[in-house]
Amino acid sequence: MGEIDIGRVQDVEALRGSEEKFKSLVETSADLVFRLDRTGHIEYINPRVYELYGYQVDELTGKHLTVTTPPEELPRAIEAMNRVLTGELLRDFEINQMDKAGRIIPMEINAAPVKKDGQITGIQGIMRDVTRRKQIEKELRIKSSAVAASINAIAMADLDGKVTYANDAFLKMWGYNDVSKVLGRTGSEFSQDAKKALMAIEALRTEGNWVGEGVAKRKDGSTFWASYSANMVRDDAGKPVCIMSSIIDVTEHKQALEELKQAKEHAENAKEQLEASVERANMLAQKALAADLAKSEFLANISHELRTPLNAIIGFSQVLAEQDLSDEQRHYMDIIRESSENLLQLINDVLDFSRIEVGKLDVQISDCPLGCLLAITESLMRPAAMEKGLKFEILQCGELPAKIRTDSARLRQCLINLIGNAIKFTEKGHVYVNISVQEFNGKPHIRFDVEDTGIGIPPEKQQLIFERFAHVDGTTTRRFGGTGLGLAITKQLANLLGGDICVTSEVGKGSVFSLRIPAGVDVKSQALLDRYDFVNELNSSRGSSEQVKFCGHVLVADDSRASQMLIRLLLERLGLQVTTAEDGKEAVQSAIGGIGRPFDLIFVDIQMPKMDGYDVARTLRREGIATPIVAVTAHASEGEREKCISAGCNNCLSKPINHKELVGILGKYLASESTAGGEKIESVKSQAGERG
Ligand code: ADP
Repeated sequence: MGEIDIGRVQDVEALRGSEEKFKSLVETSADLVFRLDRTGHIEYINPRVYELYGYQVDELTGKHLTVTTPPEELPRAIEAMNRVLTGELLRDFEINQMDKAGRIIPMEINAAPVKKDGQITGIQGIMRDVTRRKQIEKELRIKSSAVAASINAIAMADLDGKVTYANDAFLKMWGYNDVSKVLGRTGSEFSQDAKKALMAIEALRTEGNWVGEGVAKRKDGSTFWASYSANMVRDDAGKPVCIMSSIIDVTEHKQALEELKQAKEHAENAKEQLEASVERANMLAQKALAADLAKSEFLANISHELRTPLNAIIGFSQVLAEQDLSDEQRHYMDIIRESSENLLQLINDVLDFSRIEVGKLDVQISDCPLGCLLAITESLMRPAAMEKGLKFEILQCGELPAKIRTDSARLRQCLINLIGNAIKFTEKGHVYVNISVQEFNGKPHIRFDVEDTGIGIPPEKQQLIFERFAHVDGTTTRRFGGTGLGLAITKQLANLLGGDICVTSEVGKGSVFSLRIPAGVDVKSQALLDRYDFVNELNSSRGSSEQVKFCGHVLVADDSRASQMLIRLLLERLGLQVTTAEDGKEAVQSAIGGIGRPFDLIFVDIQMPKMDGYDVARTLRREGIATPIVAVTAHASEGEREKCISAGCNNCLSKPINHKELVGILGKYLASESTAGGEKIESVKSQAGERG
């Protein structure tokens, strides 16, 4: 061997030392370190292979790389190996490997050719397990594709607010096709309200997040309402790294809200308007009601005022008719009387109607002898029927009670209206009143069917005629006259009495008006109406017009000269001495301090200026004057009668003065030369009072 070359020995020692170091480095490496020969057989692999693939180093040494390469990856593996064998470096080459149990492990390979004497003899390199990285990458890919596919616009910006990412929804929302036109621009450029954008950035810096709404500006300059939710993204150390913002276009939502708000405002306005309208309508209704009441009251007053002069006309025409007149004069007189009676009827109707409207017409229910009621009605209506040559009968159909409870004056008024119409609208044939008992709503009612053979009423008018001022047609009015109030009043009265009225009719054949009112008594337990009594009543009501004379001194107090003269004339004709007074005060003076013969009877008009009739009666009674006092009144209702009596009057006489009634009253208080029956005249008196 020769002499030992110390230097060389040292080099060999150093070399060995450094080889040991490298060996240890390679053997403890966390990555796989390998070397293949040119044919792909493993020449070396470090022990890490056991942890990764489950093979011992020995098990793999000398084996071909196919042992750890899955078949499907083999072509790529061979191809990569060949590239390295041609001298190429393999960088970050990813390939799946397979462990001893067949489990696939993603690996990343960096490899280089092994050269010896300028020849490539094999391949050496490092393989790294990239399972975890792959997993992270996959998760990231999922997350970023979720962000990219989100329907919310999502953008990221750096800490200066410059956009670093924008998803498709962002581009669509802001009207961009190309993301490069967005990246790098500051967030505030996408907003209409730069101040708000700055404020948001500030809030992100200090608070770490910002939620709010703002007007965003699109690429084309148009705007929309955006709702932002932004937050600062921090790294593991808590250091801010970027800003992330999620945005929704809330324009439609805003509009819907705005519309809702407006709809609510409209609804509130409408409600206010409606309330105002209702209030106004109520006010108008109240006004209308007040006006209606005022009108009705006016009508009531005016009708009352009209009756006074009309009473005088009727009274005087009656007086004149009794004079010796030529036939022509008598004819004219009849016209005056008939016209004024018609006028009075009209005024009374208007008065009744207005009283019904203002609710002042109340009914006075009392016992009503049916026979008496029918007798009076018959005697009142028969003359008119006879005058037209009509057969007129009041017929009892079945048993009727002798007495019912109702307002007899109002019932009579209804019957007179219906019978009057039947006579008026019938030229030939008959008018019958059929009376029967009818059960209605479990209660006994009396039914009056007023039947005629007149002109009839067409079906379409049969309801209308019960309305006020209604006629079947204009020609009827011209031919027969009438105001069109009669049936309206009759219906109202029937209702006030608790009953009703209806009609059946055929044009050209006739009509039946059926009035139904409660009997007001238990019909079964009542005495029955005796046909004989009824006929007697009839005969007695037809009465006689025997002329009587009275003696006595009578005071007449009336402010109407005409009324005063009329009553004076009537009384003087009945043989009485008459003194007149112009008003209440004068009447009291005459009655208390009058010189000459004292009064046997005093007539006081109720409506007088200075002192009215009630006061006159009260004063005289207070002064101890016992002379009978008769109140003369235009409203001869039951209520009025009671009022007069309680003021001190003895009796009540209604205007227009009915001759028989006057005679009856005089007969009660004064001596007479004839004895015309007071009772008989009393029954007639009620008929005259029916229109009071
Ligand atoms: P008037 O005062 O006009 O008679 P009414 O209210 O009593 O008013 O009657 C109203 C209308 O009903 C009359 O104008 C008439 O056309 C019709 N009418 C009433 N009764 C009869 C009847 N018995 N026959 C035919 N038509 C009638």
